[in-house]
Amino acid sequence: MSTTLPVADAAQLRTQSAALMRRHLRGFVGMAALQAAAACAGLAGPFLLGRIIDGVVAGSPVSALDQAVAILVVAVVAQSVTVRYAQRASMVLGERVFAELREQFIETVTSLPLSTVEKAGTGDLVSRTTNDVDRVQHTIRFGIPRVLVAVSTIALTVVATVLVSWVTALALLTALPLLIGAVRWYLRRATPRYLEESAAWAAMNGTFTESVEGARTVEALALAARRRARGEADIDRIVEKESRTLTLRQVLFPAVDMAFGIPSVVVLLWGGWLASQGHVTIGAVTTVALYTVQLMGPVWELIFWVDEIQVATVSLARIFGVSDVAPDRTATDEEPQDEHMVARDVEYAYREGVPVLHGIDLDLAIGERLAIVGPSGAGKSTFGRMLAGVHPPTAGRVTVGGVPLVHLPLEDLRGHVALVTQEHHVFVGTVADNLRLARAQATEREMDEALLAVDALGWVRDLPEGLETGVGSGGHELTPAQAQQIALARLVLLDPHTLVLDEATSLIDPRQARDLESSLAGVLEGRTVVAIAHRLYTAHDADRVAVVDGGRITEIGSHHELVAAGGAYARLWHSWQSE
Ligand code: ADP
Repeated sequence: MSTTLPVADAAQLRTQSAALMRRHLRGFVGMAALQAAAACAGLAGPFLLGRIIDGVVAGSPVSALDQAVAILVVAVVAQSVTVRYAQRASMVLGERVFAELREQFIETVTSLPLSTVEKAGTGDLVSRTTNDVDRVQHTIRFGIPRVLVAVSTIALTVVATVLVSWVTALALLTALPLLIGAVRWYLRRATPRYLEESAAWAAMNGTFTESVEGARTVEALALAARRRARGEADIDRIVEKESRTLTLRQVLFPAVDMAFGIPSVVVLLWGGWLASQGHVTIGAVTTVALYTVQLMGPVWELIFWVDEIQVATVSLARIFGVSDVAPDRTATDEEPQDEHMVARDVEYAYREGVPVLHGIDLDLAIGERLAIVGPSGAGKSTFGRMLAGVHPPTAGRVTVGGVPLVHLPLEDLRGHVALVTQEHHVFVGTVADNLRLARAQATEREMDEALLAVDALGWVRDLPEGLETGVGSGGHELTPAQAQQIALARLVLLDPHTLVLDEATSLIDPRQARDLESSLAGVLEGRTVVAIAHRLYTAHDADRVAVVDGGRITEIGSHHELVAAGGAYARLWHSWQSE
């Protein structure tokens, strides 16, 4: 599979994450403050316990001990309350950051240049929008807050330990060699292995999505066995990559566990000896020993998240990477003078050096109907996409009112020219949601008018909840013709002056095609239309016919002129008529 969608590098990842954090700075600061308060309250317990022990040893009066116990109770209550608010703040922050990330991502994905998506294959993009977003989601919502909590708790605990008795605290250092060694060993290997793992998942996604989307082709060409074998090979690769990352965790976790055992024992031995020599009090040793135990929780948490963050960083790099796709056009503020569309010397190459269009010129009269005919593979669809501004031409230009289509902002472009293909999609949501995709502010009346224009108002009104009926997967099921009518109603709302029809009705069964043709006629009313014709009678009814062959317009003129000229079109026409 060719993956051409970029992956963000470490520097970009840092800048983008930092920018994301900066936008939520207040949330971070507030959460950190609450968290620090909670951690401080948590430190009071062992400290007071040490004081009580020292008090008992020194034979302090009971009243002094009672007082210490009372403070202890207050500290515990204060800790519970602050922890509650700190956790709440961190959850809210996590949700906010993730929501923003997701919105940003969807915005980027929906404005990606189509040519890039087509080249990269949909599998990679699907994998990024599903697997990668899922992985990042957990880490951002829970991980980042937890890591900040763990880091601040560790820092405060270490400071408190040093303050209580720095000599005893030296014992903590014995954890470091193993801890640092294990984590460094892990980090050095983790990123590349997790990247390989993600790529393996993306490859599998690609294979399965393509097999399912192309199921008819797979069946027609008896490719099932081959596709299955490929799917199985992809799964085997995933298993292999997953087990490689599992090995990493299998080393990291036990090593960390061991690293913890050491200081707990050393604090007791070392502290015990220091106390017996009279260098520190038993209370201080107790406090340090309790702090050591308290450190384990946050350190474990940190290490656990280091692992998760490795996985998430890889996914995040893939998510941020999408915003690195170079735009295939730059909008300028030129305003089209009129609705006159002209193509000049248009060339297009899907692959560099292999042009499939060789300098096409075309001047569309406003309001005319042009039919494009020609053999399969001649470049009709490709030219249709140039005319609709879907791809920028490799050379030459297509202009509307003097402005190249690719200089128009995408929203404006769609108000000038739209491409209608046989593909149509009903999105999950209500009928109204589906229509408002074309014009977000459309009123109910405008939607009714659009539906009326495509002969769909009747059946939409008959739906259980009319415009508000849920459709799409899981909702009310629409027939293919109804789905197509909704797509056409969207076009009416979009209201472009020019339409490029690429075999728009060819896949519908002929009984429904009749109905749809009248719906389509409603949409075409008053617009300039370029129809890539499948059936010649469309050509017969058009104002002009262009014959495309080998990436060039070889003949152009009215039906009668072309038939009279006796060229390729005349031959096609005669052979079609004698069928
Ligand atoms: P038509 O619509 O006349 O059947 P197309 O415009 O679909 O012709 O195709 C013109 C040429 O471009 C064909 O040789 C086809 O193989 C090639 N082509 C079409 N789409 C792609 C694509 N996405 N990637 C690479 N080549 C393509």
